[in-house]
Amino acid sequence: MSNRIKILDPITANQIAAGEVVERPASVIKELVENSIDARASKIEIEVGESVLSYLRVFDNGMGISKEDLPLAFQRHATSKITSINDLNQLLTLGFRGEALPSIASVSELEISSRTADSINGWKFRFSGGHLVAEEAVGMPVGTDIIVRNLFFNTPARKKHVKSESTELGHIKDILLRFALAYPEIAFKFTAASSRQWQTDGKGDYFYPLVLNFGEEIASKMLEVKGESADASIKIHGFLAPPAFSRTTRLQQIIFVNRRLVRSRLISSIVEKTLNTLLAINRYPIFCLFIEIKPEIIDVNVHPTKMEIRFSEEDLITKVIESAVKEQFFPQQSAKTIINSM
Ligand code: ADP
Ligand code: MG
Repeated sequence: MSNRIKILDPITANQIAAGEVVERPASVIKELVENSIDARASKIEIEVGESVLSYLRVFDNGMGISKEDLPLAFQRHATSKITSINDLNQLLTLGFRGEALPSIASVSELEISSRTADSINGWKFRFSGGHLVAEEAVGMPVGTDIIVRNLFFNTPARKKHVKSESTELGHIKDILLRFALAYPEIAFKFTAASSRQWQTDGKGDYFYPLVLNFGEEIASKMLEVKGESADASIKIHGFLAPPAFSRTTRLQQIIFVNRRLVRSRLISSIVEKTLNTLLAINRYPIFCLFIEIKPEIIDVNVHPTKMEIRFSEEDLITKVIESAVKEQFFPQQSAKTIINSM
């Protein structure tokens, strides 16, 4: 009974990591689009095939990956974004864990084509269940094109948990709409089962992304809020629907911290408490809030999906949000108005 403990081979380790990172088809889309954004793409196209498990594609005009780096990008804990844990204190990218590509490749048939600006051609690598099966030179514009086929073909337990086509497509739509809102300067184009869903023009306007997320009526009535702390370490900007449009759930509360979509009970409850007197009981306000905060004040390394976040200066954040919301919704009580009228 000696030697019972063995180090897992890299593919098995990646499949286990995939259990956390690749919860469902929408997680694949999220991770790939995050990579395109980190690669400074100005145009990102997302395609879903006849079924969400059979075909997902994300195609960008970002900086691309060199032939030498391509195999590395598919090794776990390989990243171009950080080199030490301290880099998380200045993190400006969405990725940093170096887990998404190897995880996705280990549970699908993945084809990546990528070209950098200093190369006259691109390279296409094909993986099946994490194994590299082919590589060839290809003609293509600068950027990266990733196609994920047969997701979870080799992890039947995970495949069983995939919900109906419309539910999974719904998750993909939601996540893409949030990206369109957080990055109005990027032109997104989304097609599903060969019909165009929507596209944004990438000119930086918020209105159309707000319409896509909240519908035309609410978007056209939303009020803008803005504020920052005295030391400029926290800046907020957002759009709130008038309380008459409240909901019974928090599903229409969209929060970005340094342009990362997060879930935050803290932020939701600050907005809710500030608007409390305007809201009917058990109703939640509809809003989107962009929080820009010095990276050292937050911890994004809480969970592999990077959706949870910890703040170290909760009081300051509370004050900034509260006063920005009050200024718009309770102008007579807001500190600024009092000062201005003296
Ligand atoms: P992470 O994003 O955490 O670094 P990933 O596994 O998602 O880890 O990606 C690994 C690496 O592959 C990235 O650090 C980046 O250098 C490269 N990469 C992935 N996607 C793209 C892309 N669309 N364009 C350019 N480089 C990319
Ligand atoms: Mg990534």
